[in-house]
Amino acid sequence: MTLVMKFGGTSVGNAAAMRETADLILQARDTWGDVVVVASAMGSKPVKVTDLLLRGADTAFAGDKDTYPRLASLMREIHYEAIDGLLSPEGERQIILAEIERFIDRFSTLCGAVSVLGELTPRALDAISGMGEQMSVRILAAYLRELGYESEAIDATELILTDGNFQNAAPQTAGTRERTQARLSPLLRVDAIPVVTGFIGATADGVTTTLGRGGSDFSAAILGQALDADEVWIWTDVDGVMSADPRLVPGAISIPTLTFREVSELAYYGAKVIHAKTMRPCVENGIPLRIKNTFNPTHPGTVIEEDAVRTNGTLKAVTAIKGVSMITIEGKGMIGVPGIAARTFGAVARLDISVLLITQASSEQSICFIVPESSAAAVVGGLEAAFAEELHRHDIERIWSRDQIAIVTIVGTGIQTTHGIAGRIFSALGDNRVNVIAIAQGSTECGISIVVAGEDAGRAVENVHALILQQERWR
Ligand code: ADP
Ligand code: MG
Repeated sequence: MTLVMKFGGTSVGNAAAMRETADLILQARDTWGDVVVVASAMGSKPVKVTDLLLRGADTAFAGDKDTYPRLASLMREIHYEAIDGLLSPEGERQIILAEIERFIDRFSTLCGAVSVLGELTPRALDAISGMGEQMSVRILAAYLRELGYESEAIDATELILTDGNFQNAAPQTAGTRERTQARLSPLLRVDAIPVVTGFIGATADGVTTTLGRGGSDFSAAILGQALDADEVWIWTDVDGVMSADPRLVPGAISIPTLTFREVSELAYYGAKVIHAKTMRPCVENGIPLRIKNTFNPTHPGTVIEEDAVRTNGTLKAVTAIKGVSMITIEGKGMIGVPGIAARTFGAVARLDISVLLITQASSEQSICFIVPESSAAAVVGGLEAAFAEELHRHDIERIWSRDQIAIVTIVGTGIQTTHGIAGRIFSALGDNRVNVIAIAQGSTECGISIVVAGEDAGRAVENVHALILQQERWR
């Protein structure tokens, strides 16, 4: 049996967490046989190594030559402290310290180059931001060896083949499968534990790419698919997927089972607990996915399966994305004119901006959709250019963006079609003075998304969450 386990930033955040993580790896090995570990960069909240790397690159780009050396020292401190706590002086301590020093050096050199050139390409950013994982896996693998087990740290640049879309690279399934099996199977055969970097991959030319923020979850699923794993487990710092972000809603409860669709919807609309792309490789190969808490390992966490118990019409979780804008195209001349929608979304796609949500406005005289606030101006500009003629003829009167909007999404299979649920949600919002700007029902039939003013988002989430907790009573 093969199990792929991914450990998030806090799970490798310091020596104590890495010890806990090593325990979990060894326990899993006893029951499963083959265990492949994927690890994130060290990330004791609020200091995440990946953020430090990115900040170094950004400040260097801005011409600031003082910040990145400070960040280098801070990173050195974080990694050295873990190494001191885990590796004995007689063992590999010096060797691993030297390896970490090499990465920190490289970080400083790259930031230096960025500041001199005044240029920061997505490619350079990927080379810099992926180093956190390269450092953490070396420490964790060395610790497993110190405990007396065969283990090897592996850069996923050797395993995950991607396209050249830096910052958000897409894995190529066949090439990844071939490389992963060729590299990992011999290790597994001799009972060694591969500890693989999350987040990164490489192009066919061997240039480092990254899979998008939070992409280590995706890495685990990609490797699970490549190895025909029996399960993929994501270890994090909460008891699985919860009914709301526990940092925002203290009363949030852990959800025992969810379907892939429900989790995809939650992740897509802001629930950071799992990366939205993680589900796809698992669905394709029917690999069950579990989310568990490193700091509370006996808690069952959340199991995600296609045939998870379908609690039809149960509200399971609520999530929100802030910092989005609603773009509206409005005009009487749009009625019955074919192709306006196609041209609208074509223009947005050409800007390489993805649309988070499209809503059905009450009148047919407008099209509304949501994009990240940072792209709103570009979208409005692009649309004005695309519809210059229609604007001139006043067939389209106005293209505008409303900023500081939030999308609140409620997830649960069947909630769209279960009588009375939407009514309860809207009365709960209305009773609490949340003004609903627009509504969209996801195509997957397991979610309802509501557009509200950014300042109302917290109240909306809180009140919908109260409904989730109460529903046993009215069901
Ligand atoms: P990791 O470093 O392990 O990947 P993340 O910070 O990426 O951890 O994800 C875990 C965090 O996701 C939790 O600490 C929690 O604050 C946040 N989160 C947001 N929404 C949810 C939710 N619905 N259920 C659980 N956690 C959530
Ligand atoms: Mg994460």
